[in-house]
Amino acid sequence: MIPIDHSFRKYFPGLYQQQKLVYLDSASTTQKPHSVLEGMNEYYQQYCANAGRGNYTWAQRVTDGINSVRAKVAAFVHAQHASEIVFTAGTTAGLNMIAYAWGLHNLRSGDEILYCPDDHKANVLPWLHLQALLQRFGTTIHLIPYRITSSGEIDHENIRAKASSKTRLITLTHIHNVFGTLNDIARIRTLVGQEVLLSLDAAQSVGHLAVDVQELGVDFLSFSGHKMFAAPGTGVTWIHTRIHDQLSPFLVGGEQEIASPSSSGETHLHTYEMPHLLEAGTLNIPGILSLGRAIDFINDITLTTIEQHGKTLTYYLLHHLQQIPEVIFLPGIAYSKRPVGYGILSFYFEGYTASELGFILSSQNIYVRVGTHCTRGRAAQQDSVRISLHVYNTTEEIDTCMAILQELTSV
Ligand code: PMP
Repeated sequence: MIPIDHSFRKYFPGLYQQQKLVYLDSASTTQKPHSVLEGMNEYYQQYCANAGRGNYTWAQRVTDGINSVRAKVAAFVHAQHASEIVFTAGTTAGLNMIAYAWGLHNLRSGDEILYCPDDHKANVLPWLHLQALLQRFGTTIHLIPYRITSSGEIDHENIRAKASSKTRLITLTHIHNVFGTLNDIARIRTLVGQEVLLSLDAAQSVGHLAVDVQELGVDFLSFSGHKMFAAPGTGVTWIHTRIHDQLSPFLVGGEQEIASPSSSGETHLHTYEMPHLLEAGTLNIPGILSLGRAIDFINDITLTTIEQHGKTLTYYLLHHLQQIPEVIFLPGIAYSKRPVGYGILSFYFEGYTASELGFILSSQNIYVRVGTHCTRGRAAQQDSVRISLHVYNTTEEIDTCMAILQELTSV
């Protein structure tokens, strides 16, 4: 068991070496603990081989390692089968994969996809791209936008109004990367029924609170390792067994095989079963191993402790930002009657542009994110500042940041 105490920073070499640095950009990427770095080094230095290909000892050790991380991830998100866990390059790669491995082969003219224009572009653009691609081949699918409320939550009534018998898939976000609110996905499932597929972008929730795919009732759930203490370039898309027979590979090669045309003239894909069906080519082995170590690290702290720490710090941050009249919040928990946050708050600061504020804070060793945060909707109208927290942040760090913002108001 790892307690979050005053010496917690020692687990993160980057933070430990820079004691004064205040890292408030974990929604972009998290810092990496020693155990994760050691896991990657061990692979490179002690058994560097490919996975699923050779039968010599090192190759077997890598294959076993990947299998054991797959089982670990399955338990972590409460999947029913390890075959539901597909390793990807990250959330963006996973969300694109859904469009091509499922959408390309299952959508027909007239079908509708519901999406939120305010979401991270990775949850929007794959569907726009697929729509344009299908159109070139004479298939017209419709993308129907749904709304987010001023407190940053998906508007359930709007989803209910927009869903129709033509809706094939709704793409959703668990915790919004700018607004920071947690959405009630299980409730959306009950609103829309079992027929429609739900794809959930869980990039900002996995690693912050317990995520249970069965409770959520979704069909796809995508997340990135690097936002939960693992290496960049590794992610996971969980895919419910109920739709495995609707999937086709979107990348082929390596251990997969395409048969030549049969006597009927049709070309059949002979491929591996899930999850290998969607994992052509050599996997990001050190990244996947790092994900296993990251899950161990999270489990050692416990998700309950991480979630509680996140809520306490976010509330503390909100309370202090609310004391500064120059702060204008973007949609999010600042507009909720009972604000519960998971580490993300975004705002404008009157008198300074977001990028000016970013520079000022950076010059004081405080790292925040500024800009439009990879969105193209409401949050992209004007650059804003986003503060995002994780388990290594403290109330003292928030005080340091608030003191600088307060100074700016008195200039
Ligand atoms: N969705 C959300 C909600 C995100 O916050 C991010 C990362 N900013 C992504 C998708 C994309 O993640 P990645 O860059 O790891 O593919």
